Amino acid sequence: MNSAESAALELVLRERGWEKAPSGEKADLVLLNTCSVRHTAETRLKGRLAHYEALKKALADNRVPAFTLIVAGCMASRLGAELKSAYPAIDQVMGTNARSIFPAILEAVEQGRPFEPASETPVFSFSSSHLEAGAFRSFVPIMHGCNNFCSYCIVPYVRGREVSRSPASIETELQLLAEKGVREITLLGQNVNSYHYSYSENPDSNGGRSKTGPDGLDFPGLLTFIARRVKDTSIEWVHFLSANPGDLSPETIAVMAENRCFCRHLHLPVQHGSNRILAAMNRRYTREHFLTLAAELRKAIPGISLSTDILVGFPGETEEDLEATLNLMKEIRFLYAYMYYYNPREGTAACDLPNQVPEETKLERLGRVIALQNKVTEESLLARVGSRERVLIEGISRKNADELIARTEKDEMAVLGGPKERIGSFAEVKLHSLKGRTFRAAFI
Ligand code: SF4
Repeated sequence: MNSAESAALELVLRERGWEKAPSGEKADLVLLNTCSVRHTAETRLKGRLAHYEALKKALADNRVPAFTLIVAGCMASRLGAELKSAYPAIDQVMGTNARSIFPAILEAVEQGRPFEPASETPVFSFSSSHLEAGAFRSFVPIMHGCNNFCSYCIVPYVRGREVSRSPASIETELQLLAEKGVREITLLGQNVNSYHYSYSENPDSNGGRSKTGPDGLDFPGLLTFIARRVKDTSIEWVHFLSANPGDLSPETIAVMAENRCFCRHLHLPVQHGSNRILAAMNRRYTREHFLTLAAELRKAIPGISLSTDILVGFPGETEEDLEATLNLMKEIRFLYAYMYYYNPREGTAACDLPNQVPEETKLERLGRVIALQNKVTEESLLARVGSRERVLIEGISRKNADELIARTEKDEMAVLGGPKERIGSFAEVKLHSLKGRTFRAAFI
């Protein structure tokens, strides 16, 4: 989401004639688009701010005109005033809905006058129009915000409640992407399967199209709508991120199974394997429900790969709870996982819970979770050696300029020899061997 929004802000800059500077130090304007989800991201931002503050001071000491410093994104939503007072070098803060006010801010910067703060309203980015020539993949935001309030998560506080994008606007973007020859799209939202667009609340937006549900379009309805719109276009692969297991419906699984444009990979963040901890996290599903979902997905969509997020060290987590997570990981056998340990986030329900787990215990438990996942990932990938796959060729291998890097629809990486003219196209390959987490493949 952060990458998609950075691209949307970059588009506004380009449309106004701004160009990318070779470095932050040589720029007329420095824009830091922030993320608040992890504590470490906030710490890193503060380090960058200190750097630019010192740079601005050095320029002022040498009577050189200084750059404009803007902080955007979740941290600006959450801590805007605090950041401005701690780092006076910041000229402007703008939150996650900043795209609505960014052009006015830029106009003020260009005219050398201060910007009068205005209210921000959500704007869905049209990522397609900024695509560079030859680009073959794009994000497509479909909703913003989250109503779930998982007890450890700051997203609903910084991004606000769920707002779904109109199907007509999504359709327009799909058409633009197809005209540009895009091959792969990722539908984006904090909790995509809560997508719901109400026609009665937006009476002008139906355009005579079919509806699903009592009023409007729900997520499986949107997937069906998208599958129809991308049929016979250049867009052959569709992913979506992120899907909360508690909201993943049987209808969504059925639509994925029926329409081959949906990639055979799903990122489904389980977070924990203990029902006690899942309840404390306010995840609103149980371990049993998750296991059933995984089984239903694998039954409906044979060969689908599943990945996940695992959060260890939540307050009150015991050895038994951790064992429940390790057992769930062994049972499901995710292809990969993003694994992290709990950081208290001020303002969230879990922040003040008793029984916070000591730092060294969190680290030790995280180490065990990572070791298990690494083993499962290696075994899962090794079992795939020898299979034939369709891949999207993404670019030149970073390790060898004579080789191409490609990705399967199951989100596995492969390198193979071939001409760079193949970049951005699909190919049938055979996975010959595995090195680390990357297959060595060859065109069939
Ligand atoms: S579903 Fe939970 S973890 Fe995901 S964004 Fe919403 S509150 Fe945060």
